Amino acid sequence: MIKFLTFILFFTVLFANSEKTVDDKKNITADEIRDHIKFLSSDKLKGRRPGTRGSKQAIRYIEKEWKSSGVLPAGERGFKQSFIFTSGVSISGYNRLKIDELRKTFRVKQDFMPLGFSAVGLVKADVVFAGYGFSTEDSISWNDYSNIDANGKWVLIFRGSPDGSSPHSTFSDYAPLRKKYMAARDNSAAGVLFVNPFNDDELEKFVALRFGPSTTRGSIPAIHISQEVAQQLLPQNTSLKNLQNALDTNRASVSFDLNISVSATISLKIIKSRGTNVLGVVRGDGSTDEIIIIGAHMDHLGLGGEGSGSLRPDEEAIHNGADDNASGIAGLLEMAEKIAINSEQLKRDVLFIAFDAEEKGLLGSKYFVDNPNINLENVSAMINMDMVGRLKDSSLTVGGTGTSPMFEPLLDSLQNIHNLNISYSKEGFGPSDHSSFYIKDIPVLFFFTGTHEDYHKPSDDWEKINATGEKIILDLIYDVTKHLGFLDKKPVFTIAGPKERSQNQRGFKVTFGIVPSYSSGGPGLTIDGVRPEGPAEIAGIQSGDIIIEIGGKDVQDIYDYMHRLGDLKKGQRVAVTIKRGEDTLELVVNL
Ligand SMILES: [Zn+2]
Repeated sequence: MIKFLTFILFFTVLFANSEKTVDDKKNITADEIRDHIKFLSSDKLKGRRPGTRGSKQAIRYIEKEWKSSGVLPAGERGFKQSFIFTSGVSISGYNRLKIDELRKTFRVKQDFMPLGFSAVGLVKADVVFAGYGFSTEDSISWNDYSNIDANGKWVLIFRGSPDGSSPHSTFSDYAPLRKKYMAARDNSAAGVLFVNPFNDDELEKFVALRFGPSTTRGSIPAIHISQEVAQQLLPQNTSLKNLQNALDTNRASVSFDLNISVSATISLKIIKSRGTNVLGVVRGDGSTDEIIIIGAHMDHLGLGGEGSGSLRPDEEAIHNGADDNASGIAGLLEMAEKIAINSEQLKRDVLFIAFDAEEKGLLGSKYFVDNPNINLENVSAMINMDMVGRLKDSSLTVGGTGTSPMFEPLLDSLQNIHNLNISYSKEGFGPSDHSSFYIKDIPVLFFFTGTHEDYHKPSDDWEKINATGEKIILDLIYDVTKHLGFLDKKPVFTIAGPKERSQNQRGFKVTFGIVPSYSSGGPGLTIDGVRPEGPAEIAGIQSGDIIIEIGGKDVQDIYDYMHRLGDLKKGQRVAVTIKRGEDTLELVVNL
């Protein structure tokens, strides 16, 4: 019975579309918005994580809707533009750790766990204890490497700091695992053995295995060992706990050779996934090559979990993502339908893009601007919709309004017509896909109804969507698009804020004035953009260069870059080594 009813329901939805009247197509309606969101955020699509069955069903749904609206395929294969990204890492094959002198072998996952960015392979070396693995010469002046020679040895170090993992600790800048890993590399260690301290019960037994698009594999192994294993590395009458008490009480370095050696074999597999952007175009009257892009991301967090971006990482559940961002995709479908039926009013083509893997770090939009199948110079503006389904008190936020002088006057003229209270945010860079276009000097507008208590939780469900409110927003965006579509000249681009997450937000004291790439696989840090007249540009650094050293110390990826930057001071002159094609250049940057 249930089966028969589902069958009937499925076909009713399928054919409902083909029976739409011209009026339905001509108008953006709350019912259609709700239907799109209901389907895209249904449990069946399991939260639309990139590369999954649910994601494929969302893609098919978009393609079907666009076909019936007369939107033309504009991808590399029909509507699709696919890309491969790094989505994780897993233990694979043979992993072993042995204390040679004790002839004791330990088991992975039980006694030790490699870190996601660990180098792989076999390392056999002596071990030296190096306290918290700090190496600082500044105000706190704590260098665990000053009394030992770590060259070619494993360093055994505690996670955290004498203040545990409190973010307010004076040590908080030095506590991150990547920072300690970098200090060990700077002291030519053969590998790092991290152990949990006794002053912080919050810490998980082993650091979760994580490897994101911006992670690169390190040059030395990094292993998290249990306190029991670490205790066996110490001399007979030495207790690991007392060692730590000494560190915390004296608040000074304790480090010494352990006269014992460890052999470890690490084997990890980097997991690659496929992402798919979906592209459809409505042609204008052909009088110009210029294009308006309207975009929204279609992916969400799937079943959530550790590292997914879920605000309930411990709750493995379907993150339906009705507002984030089924609402944006519903907007894309409704806009496309209405624009397709009114295209004679447009001079410019309108390209619709459903981006994938936005939740993984804007990967789909970044891939598109780095591998465009159109000439980006012809893009007159990019309109992004991310979370437009929860309008409250007619309050709408529009970001990027400073990226062209014509945007705010245009929105001023339209907000009364649409009874909306629009608050403007001028910055072109923000937490969604429009940032990828702003970085390429394209004027952007970002429509957003604001965050809410269900953000990035399984409870972001369609029942909470304000479809009538979204219809009002889409009518506004339609008028904006129509206006942009008919302009004689394309909007002028103006810089509006940094082209990356602002340095202040990151607590850095200095800036290079570059846009780092978050997804270039390393080694080294690829530069996506250089701020005009910034320190880097003045020093001669160019977009596309790869930073491999700062101040004579190696930079393997974005994490190293951030930690090296954290050590630099205003007014300092620092040597930066870059790769440009086959050449290696050393340039001096004035901070
Ligand atoms: Zn989103």
